[in-house]
Amino acid sequence: MSPQNTYPLLTHCPICHALYAKENVKLVEEKESAKLYHSMCQECGHGLLAYVLEAPGGVSSLGLVTDASGVDIIRLGEEEPLTSEECVAAHQLLNEGSRELCRLLLDTSSKLA
Ligand SMILES: [Zn+2]
Repeated sequence: MSPQNTYPLLTHCPICHALYAKENVKLVEEKESAKLYHSMCQECGHGLLAYVLEAPGGVSSLGLVTDASGVDIIRLGEEEPLTSEECVAAHQLLNEGSRELCRLLLDTSSKLA
């Protein structure tokens, strides 16, 4: 039996409960007994990251709703993890420069429209 038939996180969208199309559930990464899947709901458009860990005593799974596409997940998986210093720097930048950031975002969005 394939994993897509076994785990509820890989068969139904947790947001709208639609059945996933088989081609919308993809194995992103596999390490020993742990697998990371990405699924995209064709009904509501939400994505889900599902981490499935198989152990002799059973199976554990954890799901995270995301707006990231399958391509984003692969790309982000290849990047180095953020450090705590980078998180603090981003927080400080947003705190101290939010007015300038908003101006830049508004300028960019008006150019796209
Ligand atoms: Zn859905």
